[in-house]
Amino acid sequence: MEPILSGAFNQFNEAADQLKLADEMRAYLTSFKTVFQTQFPVEMDDGSLKMFDGIRILHNTARGPSKGGIRYSARVSLDEVKALAMLMTWKCAVVDIPFGGAKGGVTVDPASMSPNELQNLTRRFTSEIIPIIGPDKDIPAPDMGTNPQTMAWMMDTYSMTQGYTIPGVVTGKPLALGGSEGRFEATGRGILNVIEEHLRAEGGIAGRRVAVQGFGNVGGIAARLIHQAGAKVTHISDKDTALYHRDGIDAAAAYAFVAGGGTLAAWREQFGRDVEVVDGPAVLAADVDILVPAALESVLTEENAAAVRAPLIVEGANGPTTTEADAIFRERGIVVIPDILANAGGVTVSYFEWVQARQFQRWTEERVNQELGRIMARAYQAVSARCPIGSPGCTLRQAANWVAIERVVEAVSLRGIYP
Ligand code: NAD
Repeated sequence: MEPILSGAFNQFNEAADQLKLADEMRAYLTSFKTVFQTQFPVEMDDGSLKMFDGIRILHNTARGPSKGGIRYSARVSLDEVKALAMLMTWKCAVVDIPFGGAKGGVTVDPASMSPNELQNLTRRFTSEIIPIIGPDKDIPAPDMGTNPQTMAWMMDTYSMTQGYTIPGVVTGKPLALGGSEGRFEATGRGILNVIEEHLRAEGGIAGRRVAVQGFGNVGGIAARLIHQAGAKVTHISDKDTALYHRDGIDAAAAYAFVAGGGTLAAWREQFGRDVEVVDGPAVLAADVDILVPAALESVLTEENAAAVRAPLIVEGANGPTTTEADAIFRERGIVVIPDILANAGGVTVSYFEWVQARQFQRWTEERVNQELGRIMARAYQAVSARCPIGSPGCTLRQAANWVAIERVVEAVSLRGIYP
């Protein structure tokens, strides 16, 4: 078993022990409703045929149709997709949206394919998984290596086989095809929402010092919104450059530049000469109030956990903290707002996109942001009620797992077992 899947099982089993779940329920929740694997041909631009491996896995659908991304990556494996499908079940449950968890992937390096080959691959893979997906069954979304264009092709392929347009079969579509206002920013905005909720009783976010690792969809937007909320974003970084300014960086200006196709290094060169270039690892060890790792998994480890100075870590990326680092943070009294809660803003607005598609409605960005804020605040409150700040006996990660697993267990128990 790959470490990513054994890690997901270990986290589940720890929570199951604490919740005293019966063995039958544990067996049920560590099983997968559907494991679909396919090998399919794609016509390449030179006329040759190439075979690809595709996977779609539905973990649990007790609370509703399953939801989860499709990734295109050379590293896609069955265990990775299983672990991520399970994570989606807990993520949807913790924010209490009526979805179960799924994930899919194709083993391919998308950078090695032309746009035409990617379209051929997407359409053939979609047609292979048609028996499983559907707006009432399983709703894919973009993930690593896929994007709104991929979702447009998937939606079109599915719709063509049914004979009419079915926008609710995927989320993360382009705006012109029923994508939701606010979806692009949703994960970063959700991060701001949970930080605000966490600090509500302690004077809010204004004036806090914040370091953000990663400056893409999650980190760049989170940094921009945190800056606009009045905090001092002292450190930002992308894969090549880490920047520091003691009085805070104008993360909104930096993000506008990067979103226009620039790099952080080029932004500093042109507009931010008073900003210092520092080492990448310095961002994780920054002397700040809040650290937001929003780039990669497993960046906070046994080796660097002792150097972290922020008393609060908000996990923007999926799985940025290893189990060993998590134990060190707990011992040191560093609070971690876990990924399944902190970065659930994206799937929440995906749910809004699905609702809009089912009802042929268009919500305004203001309405999307308001509803997102309400759901993130409610989810934070449900989790923190199970582990109030300063409780020695628990962590917010454990509490988030308890809340999520209990909700799924309740749904499974109420439905009973058919027949
Ligand atoms: P992205 O590709 O848009 O951005 C990734 C950023 O991280 C880039 O700025 C890149 O330069 C930077 N980066 C890469 N390696 C780095 C390093 N060693 N040090 C510093 N920066 C580095 O990806 P994203 O969509 O922002 O996703 C980031 C993480 O958040 C991933 O773990 C992803 O699974 C997770 N996530 C994303 C969403 C979403 O809606 N996009 C939702 C939930 C979770």
